[in-house]
Amino acid sequence: MAKTIFERTSIGRKGYTLPVNDVDVKLDSCIPAKYKRSSAVKLPEVSELDVMRHFFELSHMNHCIEKGFYPLGSCTMKYNPKINETLVRNAGFNNLHPMQDEDTVQGALEILYDLQESLAEISGFSKVTLQPVAGAHGEFTGLKVIKAYHEAKGNFHKTKIILPDSAHGTNPASVVLAGFEVVEIKSNKDGMVDIADLKAHVDENTAGFMLTNPNTLGLFEKQVEEIAEIIHAVDGLFYMDGANFNAILGIVKPGQIGFDVMHYNLHKTFATPHGGGGPGSGPIGVREDLAKYLPAPLIGFKDGKYFLDYSHAETSFGKVHSFFGNFAINLRAYIYIKMLGAKGLRRVAENAVINANYIQKKLEKYYKIPFKHIYCMHEFVASGEWQKDKYGIKTIDIAKRILDKGYHAPTIYFPLIVPEAIMIEPTETESKETLDEFIQAMIDIAHECETNPELLHNAPMTTPVRRVDDTLAVRQLNVKFEW
Ligand SMILES: *Cc1c(COP(=O)(O)O)cnc(C)c1O
Repeated sequence: MAKTIFERTSIGRKGYTLPVNDVDVKLDSCIPAKYKRSSAVKLPEVSELDVMRHFFELSHMNHCIEKGFYPLGSCTMKYNPKINETLVRNAGFNNLHPMQDEDTVQGALEILYDLQESLAEISGFSKVTLQPVAGAHGEFTGLKVIKAYHEAKGNFHKTKIILPDSAHGTNPASVVLAGFEVVEIKSNKDGMVDIADLKAHVDENTAGFMLTNPNTLGLFEKQVEEIAEIIHAVDGLFYMDGANFNAILGIVKPGQIGFDVMHYNLHKTFATPHGGGGPGSGPIGVREDLAKYLPAPLIGFKDGKYFLDYSHAETSFGKVHSFFGNFAINLRAYIYIKMLGAKGLRRVAENAVINANYIQKKLEKYYKIPFKHIYCMHEFVASGEWQKDKYGIKTIDIAKRILDKGYHAPTIYFPLIVPEAIMIEPTETESKETLDEFIQAMIDIAHECETNPELLHNAPMTTPVRRVDDTLAVRQLNVKFEW
């Protein structure tokens, strides 16, 4: 590896020029003695080019979608068209201020309004708010709407939200944050909601049911209408975690098959790159009678003018974010939807599903696939159980070896109900050639488990940082470069 920026330091070299100080302030007298440095801070002294190379090199140490395939299940790491990035950097968007007068931001409001309407149309809901800024934030917002609905009816005893055991970790966390209790039910042997177990847990205290569809096993929950009937019979509301919407875009409208509330992950389905914690956008859609509880303002349109609509502020449960959500992320989603159109969005889902099924089929002889009796949707869950039982190789070893082959690892050990889970989501933006190369790499790894298990235990061999002791790294976090 080339020398680090710290090792390249040369006393007195610098990559900046500052204007001559023409302010007459005695800094010395402003800073209390106890905050003053006794010696100069030790910073690298390098040229501008050195700094550039430093950051360029760092960026190459990480994996990213521009560098290679990123089959991280549940995350929908699709290609983000570069035109999104170009357009969001347009000064006309970039220099807007949220406090500006409505008359001066009609274009921006039109985009937000159009996006609200498009998302409502795509999902079959009546109203959409763009305020939440993450999927989990959308869950929280949706649950607060559910709470407001019950409280408006005086039904304070409705305190329980039911979830299947395949749920994403954010679901139970949001339930608790929104002030409800979690009731977990089982999945059946086909990986779907166990209706008998659901019936056994539904009662007059049920406030709602949260279901991811397709679920985290990558399977479409076919019993949606039956579940909706069971939940609605006790005046509960049916929430859809729509993070996996990529699989059914343009094919299924959740608002028309029994769901009452749903969140979208714009930073998954609608092409914003994500990872590392944001930024994101997690709008929610609701059925007509729930719209009055949404955070205010919504974006309205009347007499040829777009405006911030506070008309439901009295019944709204409150705000969840400053102003109108993450404008730049919403803008990317808007561009993406406009570029693809209705037909294009449907093709996204079709190709995402075909790609996942293609990999699943090609790998079924090499890795255990627990739920292969039906087609998967946009992702599937394999398991490293065969490799573990036969060769003592764990899923973490397989995931580390995948890094050596030039790929990001799939999601592993999730969902929790599949032992040694390996969750693969190719997305629609990958070519057949890329999928074939990845499949071959996975097959090669399956052979290596048999012929060279040591290699698996020691992987990764080629990454800038080799295998770290995860537990120790968490307990004794040390990210400081010593020089
Ligand atoms: C990603 C995801 C979430 C949470 O979304 P964030 O934007 O990460 O908060 C919730 N549910 C499912 C199924 C997901 O895949």
